[in-house]
Amino acid sequence: MYCITHFIAGAIVGAATPGPAGAAVAGLVTHAVLDRVPHSDYSRAAQGVLDVAVTGLFAFCILMAGADVRAIAGGLGGALPDLEVAAAFLFPKAYGPHGPLRLLFPSHNGLVRHGRLAFPWGAFTQILAIAGLAVLFLWVL
Ligand SMILES: [Zn+2]
Repeated sequence: MYCITHFIAGAIVGAATPGPAGAAVAGLVTHAVLDRVPHSDYSRAAQGVLDVAVTGLFAFCILMAGADVRAIAGGLGGALPDLEVAAAFLFPKAYGPHGPLRLLFPSHNGLVRHGRLAFPWGAFTQILAIAGLAVLFLWVL
């Protein structure tokens, strides 16, 4: 799933939690839940770099617009688990079958099923997931 999707989902849920630590944990939970949704991932490093850059710009913009620290903490909690995926992409030998490192996050190591769906449908599911989450939280709050 795209970094921006995880960040926005974590920010939405994080903004509704009592504090930044809880927001970060809530963001982690959204990551595991969203990774179950059938979705597309990119396969080129340039796409990942662009995604992270857009996410950073989005985070900066909402911070400048007055976003609560809980939203930022939630967004970071939502996005940061994919750092290990980026590390595995950059260092395939270290994460390979004979390498010393393993993916730890449950939706990355197989403990929680990771949904997959080809582009563009896998991008639409991410948009729908964010829209549904936003509506749910607007309705609940
Ligand atoms: Zn992930």
